[in-house]
Amino acid sequence: MSNSDDFETLGPSTRGVLAGRADEWTGTPGHPGAVVNPAVWRASTHLYPDMAALRAHPANEDGKFYYGRRGGPTQWALADALTALEPGAAGTVLYPSGVAAIAGVLLTVLRPGDVLLMTDNAYEPSRAMGRGLLKDFGVETRWFDPTDMASFEAACCERTRCVLLESPGSLTMEVQDVPALSAAARARGIVSVLDNTWASALGFAGLRHGADIVVMSLTKHVSGHSDCMMGSASAGEEWYRKLRVRSQGLGIVTSPDDAALMLRGLRTMKLRLEAETASALALAQWLEARPEVARVLCPMLPGSPGHELWQRDFTGGCGLFSFVLKGGTSAGRDALIDALNLFGIGYSWGGFESLATPVDPQAIRTASAWPLKGMDSGDRFGVRLSIGLEDTADLMADLDQALRVWAADGAAA
Ligand SMILES: *Cc1c(COP(=O)(O)O)cnc(C)c1O
Repeated sequence: MSNSDDFETLGPSTRGVLAGRADEWTGTPGHPGAVVNPAVWRASTHLYPDMAALRAHPANEDGKFYYGRRGGPTQWALADALTALEPGAAGTVLYPSGVAAIAGVLLTVLRPGDVLLMTDNAYEPSRAMGRGLLKDFGVETRWFDPTDMASFEAACCERTRCVLLESPGSLTMEVQDVPALSAAARARGIVSVLDNTWASALGFAGLRHGADIVVMSLTKHVSGHSDCMMGSASAGEEWYRKLRVRSQGLGIVTSPDDAALMLRGLRTMKLRLEAETASALALAQWLEARPEVARVLCPMLPGSPGHELWQRDFTGGCGLFSFVLKGGTSAGRDALIDALNLFGIGYSWGGFESLATPVDPQAIRTASAWPLKGMDSGDRFGVRLSIGLEDTADLMADLDQALRVWAADGAAA
């Protein structure tokens, strides 16, 4: 069904239910033993019926059994489902983590001597790739201000081969003008890669908005339960073929058990995103009115940096946003996070449970300022919240008591 022409005319909820459920992976409907979600198909060896079949060298395509490293029905079903949910995609390659997906994509697109442009709000391990892995392979990385087209243009040169976008950035939440940036990139023959982990395909159709390749950390929204890791890259036919060959060359393989967990998470992703978005927006509005808070950075919030672009280009949000305290110290901000009872302290986001982490972008940015334009230079200490599925009122009460702790002694600590 997910390959039929009518599929794209269906709504996103319906597509999320039907995607990746080809009959050959679930059994034939109407026949005994058919299952709803594709089964976990564990295998390194796929057996051939006879020598003639082994000698026939099956085509190197998804859906053709060969050997475990090329995956099996469970991984194919997940990849197929992600492709079906990404308008404009011809295929999806799975990677063991989001970072592996970014590395796999960049090692497909870039060659020694090339220059990579990277948005200054990129996920830190992506930045580290520019400084380390890619540098070792003869690729130079330059950073540009995420919201300044002139900064992008100024960073381009004849050797620029690829631009890595991330919108919104997962710490500071700046929304990028992906259509304008990817059009400018295309005009110069530059390949645009978008880290779309924040919105997922349900909130932002990356390929339709001009990106050549869309990357996601499935660890976040698709898993949704903080218990497994995976990454994906989706693209049109030409880039999909190249990504697939490079990933095979690198020996990239994902486990069928994890693929089954991701497929399970995918079925409820839209509902979780909607619930987390509504809760996050309510909390963002409430935080904005607090005297302890200088700035709330939440794309869904009117007045927040990038809200107009979010409204123009996005069809949904998520539970991840940040706020910046009015003045204070790093130790005071730590005391605030320690005072929270319902928020775990830990990396990652997009799970059913709420998390809080400090935001200190000045330590990593090189091409743009923190505090952001329009913010007071003394307001530097941020807190990032990943809002889960708890009751909004409980999270609000928890934030309220922690902000009081901060105002009483943490602000001056
Ligand atoms: C978490 C994250 C990644 C990396 O994903 P892993 O699955 O943890 O490797 C990449 N990009 C963004 C924006 C992320 O938040």
